[in-house]
Amino acid sequence: MNLIDAITEQASFLKGVRRDLHAHPELSFEETRTSDLVADMLTQWGIPIHRGLGKTGVVGILKNGASSRAIGLRADMDALPIQESNQFAHASRHAGKMHACGHDGHTTMLLGAAQYLAKHRDFDGTVYLIFQPAEEHGGGAREMMRDGLFEKFPMEAVFGMHNMPGIPAGTIAASPGPVLASNNEFKLTIRGKGGHAAMPHLSVDPIPVAGAIMQAFQTIISRNKKPLETAVVSITMIHAGDVPNVIPDRCEMQGTVRAYTAETLDLIERRMREIAQHTGAVFGAEVDFEFRRNYPSTINHVAETAFVREVLQDMLPASQIVTQVPIMAAEDFSFMLEAVPGCYAFIGNGDGDHRDPGHGAGPCVVHNPNYDFNDEVLPLGATLLAQLARKWFERGPG
Ligand SMILES: [Zn+2]
Ligand SMILES: [Zn+2]
Repeated sequence: MNLIDAITEQASFLKGVRRDLHAHPELSFEETRTSDLVADMLTQWGIPIHRGLGKTGVVGILKNGASSRAIGLRADMDALPIQESNQFAHASRHAGKMHACGHDGHTTMLLGAAQYLAKHRDFDGTVYLIFQPAEEHGGGAREMMRDGLFEKFPMEAVFGMHNMPGIPAGTIAASPGPVLASNNEFKLTIRGKGGHAAMPHLSVDPIPVAGAIMQAFQTIISRNKKPLETAVVSITMIHAGDVPNVIPDRCEMQGTVRAYTAETLDLIERRMREIAQHTGAVFGAEVDFEFRRNYPSTINHVAETAFVREVLQDMLPASQIVTQVPIMAAEDFSFMLEAVPGCYAFIGNGDGDHRDPGHGAGPCVVHNPNYDFNDEVLPLGATLLAQLARKWFERGPG
């Protein structure tokens, strides 16, 4: 592995920062301590900062040389509303909040790159260090963009990285095209007519309507979308009735839809609405259908992804540069990639053996109370981010 020595020498400092962040998780748009810590460190390293984009976002503006060229490096800062099961020393000190997605590690890797670039200034251009809030809930990337991120700080490309449990530590994946799905939610309310459970003929029972809709929704996946297009429809909440002897007057269903292409998503939304409303009519019920598009698919740009792989080839043996199989989770970095070319890479987090004694008994996967970021990979991630900045400007304008 060919890492930047000056970053490797900071490994124990970075581990301390990461564990401090882990112990003090903050939920989406509440990242005040975290953003203060980021702002203080950047300032201490002589990097001018801009605060307040997306409420708690911080942008470090690291300019060197005379070039007017610029790129962005992005990390997310927020934690999840999960009660941590780990008992080790750096476990969460805030009940019901936990860095269970490794954003403590992402923030630290970007700080590691910032520290190196600020000290060595061996690049010609401006690196925007984007520390964003609220990836988990609320679309902090989109909020920073609404507040003018790319107008205030125009950049040629933007790069981000997420840890990936299950991929060995020391391995990085960067793949062109779709890597994460879009995230969408639906809610439907079936309005029937309540009545005595022993006299169903006098009511319009919304529950069999819900059953018919539930069955028909899965035919969108098996019969309507193209077989080679990937998509998921999951009904995750059904609420109706309070007592055994009363037919309720309404039933509510909610769930999630994941898809890669806009074409498939449009088709799924249209078919769901048709099925919901027409099925309701068949049974004599009325159905309200709402569909909300949260995060679009994360689609890596071809040239920028090739650039990331090129940079990786100087850092890692070929066996440690892998292709990411697309997964159906979603990520709000997708908004940034819709506006600016770039690439979202994945850094292996290992299988959980790195965890300190006292960790929870469950698996070390994201959004899980037994998870912990793997500190061993901090120098690797920080080196990649620093090298992306240095080498982007070396290549000359595309
Ligand atoms: Zn997450
Ligand atoms: Zn995450």
